[in-house]
Amino acid sequence: MNKSELASFLDRSQDVLIGLSDKLWDYAETAFEEWKSATAIKKFLAGQGFFIEDKSGGIDTAFCAVYGSGKPVIGILAEYDALSGMSQQPGSVVPEVLTPGGNGHGCGHNLLGAGAVGAALGVKEYLGANKKPGTVKLFGCPGEEGGSGKAFMAREGVFDGIDVAFSWHPMAVNALLDMSLLANYQVLYKFRGKAAHAAAAPHLGRSALDAVELMNVGVNFLREHVIQEARIHYAITNTGGFSPNVVQPVAEVLYLIRSPKTPQVEEIYRRINKIAQGAALMTETEVEIEFIKACANVVPNKTLSKVLYDNLSKEQLPVYTAEEIAFADAIAPTCTKSREAELSQWIGPVEEDLRVYTKRLEGKNLCDLVMPFYETTADRVLPGSSDVGDVSWNVPTGQIVTACYVLGTPEHSWQLVSQGRTAIGHKGMLLAAKVIAGACVDVLENPELVQKAQTELDRRLGGHPYQSAIPKTVKPKAISKL
Ligand SMILES: [Zn+2]
Repeated sequence: MNKSELASFLDRSQDVLIGLSDKLWDYAETAFEEWKSATAIKKFLAGQGFFIEDKSGGIDTAFCAVYGSGKPVIGILAEYDALSGMSQQPGSVVPEVLTPGGNGHGCGHNLLGAGAVGAALGVKEYLGANKKPGTVKLFGCPGEEGGSGKAFMAREGVFDGIDVAFSWHPMAVNALLDMSLLANYQVLYKFRGKAAHAAAAPHLGRSALDAVELMNVGVNFLREHVIQEARIHYAITNTGGFSPNVVQPVAEVLYLIRSPKTPQVEEIYRRINKIAQGAALMTETEVEIEFIKACANVVPNKTLSKVLYDNLSKEQLPVYTAEEIAFADAIAPTCTKSREAELSQWIGPVEEDLRVYTKRLEGKNLCDLVMPFYETTADRVLPGSSDVGDVSWNVPTGQIVTACYVLGTPEHSWQLVSQGRTAIGHKGMLLAAKVIAGACVDVLENPELVQKAQTELDRRLGGHPYQSAIPKTVKPKAISKL
């Protein structure tokens, strides 16, 4: 079997992969409660001859599906979690709730999961047909959204012994995800005060809600005194009830603290803890600080990016039907991300390329080309985070994105949910499966790539081994259990 036969095999498998992707879209389960989604993938891969190691790292909805034996050992990362409250009709060009209060795949992890499964299936076929040594491990990674499932898995050593890892993400372009993302901590601050009648006995009450408000004011002043790249977000997850005439005895605020490197996050976290303690002191309440999760910054790997780029630039890109183009043209006006913001994210500071690619895509809402790859330029940092970061500290990791949505589609939006169950999304998913499977073939045929990628990772880490930022006692938590 050669690469083009492998691509044809995946073309023949597309119906089953699309079926799996749509099933995950329909289930739309959120972090660490992806019971049906994980079962669907496990069942499918077990039926294809993969051996299933269940509950990887002690997480109920994590798993590892293994095929083959011997070296190299290639990891492929799959995700399948949805976002809460994002229910949306598929294939619609207007916001329309499908299930009131329901969840939705606002980050396209249904496509991500099915595409990763497709890549693993392709590698299995290649190993079998060519009787090659080598092992493929499809990691079922739950809770990427707000849960950092992979960081918990990495803390438990789930990725030990893997030579290289590949992943991808649905986006609006075909490109390398060859950049760093921010490290983060998520922390819940729980204030406890004393309830009292707010009019009759206000002097007896100690307001936890006041404490939350004062803490947020303190942190908002802190913003001026942190590094430029840091990001601090919060959500008040418990306001202490709906009665203004009761002094709120309980209130909680969830913080997400981000910065390019984990030690920077740690420093800001310690300062925020002082502000929380100060707010408690001011209000005579008590604060409990609960560490929810952390993830490391992503360490890109040019060696693997190059392998992925070679495959992406040689692969046949999706051809869209008139109906798909009409759908794209109808939904595009609702998409708020500007063309410049969309493309500069991938092209970065190379202004000439930005002009060239903007011109090439003029008048088009679907990306039908591959963004340039800069092998020698310095790493860029995107202002987001991914738990792939924790994998990338342990294993050389390469990632791509493929066009699954119209240009300008904002992340975590109804437009994205809508497009995740359309032929446009499916075509991008199949492309990702082919490109990753092709990159795996290159690793199987050129074992020196493993050493080269590992040497690059060692150089980038500069002698600092991976240390999980999540305390040993912290367990993954579903959103519904916060
Ligand atoms: Zn995502």
